[in-house]
Amino acid sequence: MIDFGFQINCGHSINLDIDRFPLKQLEETVGSFRKCIRCGTCTATCSAAQFTDFNIRKIHTTFYSGIYDELADSLKQCMLCGKCTLVCPRGVNLRFLVISLRKILKENNL
Ligand code: SF4
Ligand code: SF4
Repeated sequence: MIDFGFQINCGHSINLDIDRFPLKQLEETVGSFRKCIRCGTCTATCSAAQFTDFNIRKIHTTFYSGIYDELADSLKQCMLCGKCTLVCPRGVNLRFLVISLRKILKENNL
């Protein structure tokens, strides 16, 4: 098989019966998150993504879907440089989002 240098993500289902409280907390804390159009510009410019498998778009999208597995560990890779916030076409404050996500995951033991 040809190695293209990337992998296709495994398929997963979204459980709509999950507890939406953490998402509500995030939307109340980082109001700009509601404007995200999942374009991926944040990931394309991310400093951490250049050296690791860190993917900020994947993280906030899976959190939005109620999938919390390994998010807290992944978020440790973010260097809080703020480049993602500068390039986001929708004005999402991603640096603040990472800080808030870390706090919310910890508060909810996720
Ligand atoms: S750059 Fe902004 S709009 Fe695009 S995926 Fe990232 S947060 Fe969402
Ligand atoms: S603040 Fe974190 S998520 Fe944003 S570009 Fe820097 S390392 Fe990536």
